[in-house]
Amino acid sequence: MIYSREWETMLREDLHQLQVERLQMTLNQVYRNVSLYKDLFDEQNIEITDIKSLDDLSRLPLTSKDDLKQSYPYKAFAVPLRDIVRIHSTSGTSGTPIVVGYTKNDLNIWSSLVGRVLSSVGIDSHSLVQIAFDYSQSTGGLGFHYGAEKLGASVIPASGEEVLKQIQIMRDYRSSALISTPGYALHIANVLEKQGIDPQELNLTIGLFGAEPWSEKLRSEIESRLKIKAFDNYGLTEIIGPGVAYECEHRCGLHVSEDHFIVEVIDPKTLEVLPEGEEGELVFTTVTKHAFPLIRYRTGDISKIIPGTCECGRTFRRIARISGRIDDMLIIDGNNIFPSQIEALLFEIEGVEPHFQIILTRVEGFTAIELKVEITPDFFSFDEIKRAEDFKHRIDHYLSTRLGLHAKITLIEPQSLGRTSGEKISRVVDLREE
Ligand SMILES: [Zn+2]
Repeated sequence: MIYSREWETMLREDLHQLQVERLQMTLNQVYRNVSLYKDLFDEQNIEITDIKSLDDLSRLPLTSKDDLKQSYPYKAFAVPLRDIVRIHSTSGTSGTPIVVGYTKNDLNIWSSLVGRVLSSVGIDSHSLVQIAFDYSQSTGGLGFHYGAEKLGASVIPASGEEVLKQIQIMRDYRSSALISTPGYALHIANVLEKQGIDPQELNLTIGLFGAEPWSEKLRSEIESRLKIKAFDNYGLTEIIGPGVAYECEHRCGLHVSEDHFIVEVIDPKTLEVLPEGEEGELVFTTVTKHAFPLIRYRTGDISKIIPGTCECGRTFRRIARISGRIDDMLIIDGNNIFPSQIEALLFEIEGVEPHFQIILTRVEGFTAIELKVEITPDFFSFDEIKRAEDFKHRIDHYLSTRLGLHAKITLIEPQSLGRTSGEKISRVVDLREE
């Protein structure tokens, strides 16, 4: 269902007009209230009154994670603290966290944006929504919580419960929708299997997953094992949290709530804006946030804008599901390689799990690559050694002909790369500096 039809299906030209008006307001606000932006604009001689159309957007400076880290904790806020009613932050696992604030109105907008996401995947006032996201400083738990309540659904804040308790809640309370990371959904499926519980006994029909990159292969695995329909969604704490982009019933990309966020895709090296259809780094400008507006924020997430319109009737453009992180971009002897490219190749080979790790070392000045690949559980039931060798040759052949990569391939047992609740597999271990 379309939650806010008036906005989600508006004519593109009206939407452009709205984006420009809202952008101008935001620019005024950040120039007056956020020294980070005032300094950046002044340094680059940008007159905000010269920004008159969306084409002018690319003249504005980009904002990086480091800019925001240097603003720790409150320097990037555009309103005084007395107007802030909620504070969240990024995990800060790689150093200083980024602290974000919301005014009362920001929270209202946020809940409505999450309402769009939930409606779009079929959640409504009859749904029993089990949220297994963390409710602490990260935005997943509370973001979905208030969105689901706004929709009138019955919300079960199951966050923090261990998996057996999650399953007990799911079965006894008859949860109809699960909101979590895809990795956690898979974990639940594994435990159900171990416990001998048939997913058909559950009332679960919808899974809404996000917060980490996942593939179509993982989607089908989760769907067949939990007997649900699984949807992707996208959001990040710096921009607002969940509610930035969402799949509709056609599941052919994620619609960006463009009345609130202007999306661009840039080449992460040249920083030039890329045309629709080309893969690069996602960049967002917020145009309705009061407490923590961002201009051309570099997300570090890799995606592309999908050309064309969607059958659902929404006019918001779609981005492809996130295929990886810029931070993961490998520069191997002068070539740029994304782990997502390796993942895509592995998908074509039967017998491989969608899980792998790349280990880079330095040998005599050159990069040596080891690729650890998980195999499917039934793999070694056949003629072991010969099959393993054939298999390694095949992977090697794919890598060398398609990506120009030569790697030592190591096959490892299923489930040997850790991935429990919310934990991401680190796909790249770079030991070249050691
Ligand atoms: Zn659609």
